[in-house]
Amino acid sequence: MSDKHYSFFGAVERSFDKAARFTKWDSGLLNQIRQCNSVLQLRFPIKRDNGEIEVIEAYRVQHSHHKTPCKGGIRFAAEVNQDEVMALAALMTYKCTIVNVPFGGGKGGIKIDPKKYSAGELERITRRYTSELIKKNFIGPGTDVPAPDYGTGEREMSWILDTYVSMRPGEVDAAGCVTGKPITQGGVRGRREATGLGVFYGTREVCNIPDIMNKLGLPIGIENKRVVVQGLGNVGYWAAHFFQKAGAKVIALAEYEGAIVDEKGLDVEAVFQHRKKTGSILDYPGATNIKKSTEALELDCDILIPAALENVINGENAPRIKAKIIGEGANGPLTPEADDHFAKKGTIVIPDMYLNAGGVTVSYFEWLKNLSHVRYGRMEKRFTENVNSSILNQLEELTGKKSNDHARKLIMHGPDEVDLVYSGLEETMINATHEIMNAWRENPAIPDMRTAAYVVAINKVATIYAELGIFP
Ligand code: NAD
Repeated sequence: MSDKHYSFFGAVERSFDKAARFTKWDSGLLNQIRQCNSVLQLRFPIKRDNGEIEVIEAYRVQHSHHKTPCKGGIRFAAEVNQDEVMALAALMTYKCTIVNVPFGGGKGGIKIDPKKYSAGELERITRRYTSELIKKNFIGPGTDVPAPDYGTGEREMSWILDTYVSMRPGEVDAAGCVTGKPITQGGVRGRREATGLGVFYGTREVCNIPDIMNKLGLPIGIENKRVVVQGLGNVGYWAAHFFQKAGAKVIALAEYEGAIVDEKGLDVEAVFQHRKKTGSILDYPGATNIKKSTEALELDCDILIPAALENVINGENAPRIKAKIIGEGANGPLTPEADDHFAKKGTIVIPDMYLNAGGVTVSYFEWLKNLSHVRYGRMEKRFTENVNSSILNQLEELTGKKSNDHARKLIMHGPDEVDLVYSGLEETMINATHEIMNAWRENPAIPDMRTAAYVVAINKVATIYAELGIFP
């Protein structure tokens, strides 16, 4: 089966239209939802270290204003173009809606290869881009809140915040103008591992649904499930880490230089350290090498997590994939042709739009922290510990039995910021799973979980527009 070529935004529209058929909304309203509300094209000059002036091409797209602020990362990549930023902004609208994060979708992009610029040049580009966004009212805690994406991280978010604060002195909620910041600048604990943890929570929840597991012929639960992960970067590493911690067997890990397999289960942290030390995932003690990385995707396993790149599973290799569950850690790892194949075969594909929403969910917690000006747990930690201690003391007095040190520590523990962030993320992923699955159950003609997720997203956005009376 050969794969057709769509523009990225065209592919998002195609998935949207496929799902829209299962909703009751009229075409005008649906058209309003799928369009990008505002597209900002920027060209601005920066001075390179050698004194030359370079004109930089950049974008910020606000896909939907049904809720504000808009939210979405900023990407630094040589391939950035308007179509791509529009597609990613649209996906953010649906992603936020699915996990009940009250933002419209947004995305930003600067067309540069960050490896070709010095830190000083990147700082000038980021600061100039931010001041352009400020001038056009395209950034602010109540209007549009960027975050990291490809090629950007905590460092760039700090520059954005600093530029914003210096141009908007005295704005008390300024820290909420951007998320993914370092902790010292108002970031939140747990943000770094959030996407991988969300991938784990979402997959685990699907594995806890009896009718789905029955259909797949798998036992309920995550324990002993055989997992293959492609990509040992931020998303893949943390997802693999949490699968292993929960008792699943990570039987293979794939990187671009090759893959390793061990049916007994790999120690993710040890593999990560081995790669750091030797520069390659290959030749890990006790594991078998696979030279061609893509072959790892075709291994016999229960759960496959592509967490590296887009379009890695397509019409050509989909028929050779043996996994019963595919969890999209990366954005867009499956082509529409692969989707059609798995829908027919009955393989469960847990869609990216929902499964990798852990990052934006925890960004939402960071934004709330910034607006409330207080660290999570600061007010209740000590109080909870005191109450728990009194309860435990009473119980020990009544029963005449003493708890051991480990149990005492567990029971007494009042929540830290990271505990609350994990708990909020777990709750979010569990609720979202059931919303999508219920939509699917209510309409068995829906071909796959991705379409069901789109149906949920479209219905929520459309309901808001309808209730606002914009479409009488
Ligand atoms: P990353 O750069 O940290 O990790 C990607 C990893 O994939 C790297 O280790 C890289 O070496 C590896 N890789 C590259 N080519 C490969 C190949 N051919 N085979 C196997 N491995 C290969 O990036 P990330 O942040 O983990 O993002 C990965 C994907 O997840 C992207 O699609 C991204 O858009 C998506 N995503 C990331 C986040 C986040 O919070 N980081 C959130 C949502 C979605």
